[in-house]
Amino acid sequence: MIPFLDLKTINAEYRNEMIEALTKVIDSGWYVQGEEVKEFEREFASYCDFKHCIGVANGLDALGLILRAWKQLDYIKEDDEVIVPANTYIASILAITENGLKPVLVEPDPKTYNINPKLIEQAITKKTKVILPVHLYGQFADMTSIMDIANLHNLLVLEDSAQAHGRRSNLNEHNVWGHASGFSFYPGKNLGALGDAGAIITNDSLLAKTIRILANYGSSKKYVNLYKGVNSRLDEIQAAILRIKLKKLEKDTEYRSVIANHYLNNIKNPLITLPEIRTSSSWHLFVVLTEYRDNLSDYLEKNGIQTLIHYPIPPHKQSAYSEWSSQSYPVTERLHNQMLSLPISGVQKIEDTKKIVHFLNSFIPE
Ligand SMILES: *Cc1c(COP(=O)(O)O)cnc(C)c1O
Repeated sequence: MIPFLDLKTINAEYRNEMIEALTKVIDSGWYVQGEEVKEFEREFASYCDFKHCIGVANGLDALGLILRAWKQLDYIKEDDEVIVPANTYIASILAITENGLKPVLVEPDPKTYNINPKLIEQAITKKTKVILPVHLYGQFADMTSIMDIANLHNLLVLEDSAQAHGRRSNLNEHNVWGHASGFSFYPGKNLGALGDAGAIITNDSLLAKTIRILANYGSSKKYVNLYKGVNSRLDEIQAAILRIKLKKLEKDTEYRSVIANHYLNNIKNPLITLPEIRTSSSWHLFVVLTEYRDNLSDYLEKNGIQTLIHYPIPPHKQSAYSEWSSQSYPVTERLHNQMLSLPISGVQKIEDTKKIVHFLNSFIPE
C-alpha cells in the first residue's frame, strides 16, 4: 500500500536527534517557555525573514490570538466582518467566530482553489475590517492583489499559513505580506511536531508584544494580569522537536516540489483536472479534480494507493454553522464534490509516484 502520509517514516529519520533533544529537555527541569521555545522562535522568525515569532499551542490559537490582539488594541471590535474563503478548513472560520466577529464567505478561483480577489472587493462593507486569506494546500494566495485591496480600504490582513510553511521569499516573489500570519505544526503539516503546536509571525512589534501577553494568561509579569488572556503556549518538548525538523524543511519542500512537478507533467487523463499554480507552493497537498471522484478513489485504493479528501464538507454545510445552511456557494460546493488529494511527502519514493501516475492515467470510470 502506498500510504497517503507515512508519519512514522518521516519522523524515524530524526529519531536519534529527537531522543537526545528530549533527554536534554527532561534533564533541564524546565518545560514551558524556556530556552528551546526562545531559540525556535528566533530560528523560525529568521527562516521566514520576519521580525517576530511567537510560539503558541496550535494553529487555531495562532489565528484566534491575532484577532484577539487586534480587538485588545481596539483595531477591531465585536461584530466586525472578516472576509475568508468559503472553501477553507473549519479552523480559519472558528478563529473568527470565537472572537465574536462575523465571517463573510467568499468563493475561490476554481483553478487555484484560493480566494478570488475580484470577489473580495464585492464583499466589502462598512463593517469589513479584516481579510483572512488561506494559502490553501500550500499555494500562496494572490497576496499582491489582496494587499492592494486591503491598502485601498484600510483593512488588516491575517494570513492562514497553516499549510504554507517555507521561506517566505521563496513563496512570494513580490515579497508582499499580510500584517500577521498564523502557522500550525500539527504532526501532518509540512513542519510537524509530535503533538499540537503553532506559531505567529509578524513585523509589528506592538502586535507581537500584545499576543505574547494574551497567550500567557494576559500576563507579562508573573501573577500580574493586564488583559483577560488565555493559556496558549508552545511546550519546550515540541519546540525542541521543531528545531530539529526546521533544519530540513527547505530540502523537504524542494523534494515535495519534485513530486508535484512529476504529477503536473505526467498526469494526462482528460477526466482529471490538475491544479493551476500561479504563485508558488509549499506543496502541502496535491489536490486534483474529477467528476468521478469516488470512483477514482476506489480504483486507486484497489490498486494499493491511499487518497484523502480535503475536505468532504464545506464550512457552510457543517452542522456547526447551521445558520448558513440555506446559503449557496456553487464554486466551493463543486470543488468539495470533485476534489481528491494524492499522496505527497518528503519521503515518498519516485517509483511510488510513478505508479500513482500510471494508475491515474489508466483510470476509466465504471
Ligand atoms: C491545520 C490547519 C489549521 C489549524 O491548525 P491546528 O494546529 O490543527 O489547530 C488552520 N487552518 C488551516 C488551513 C489548517 O490546515
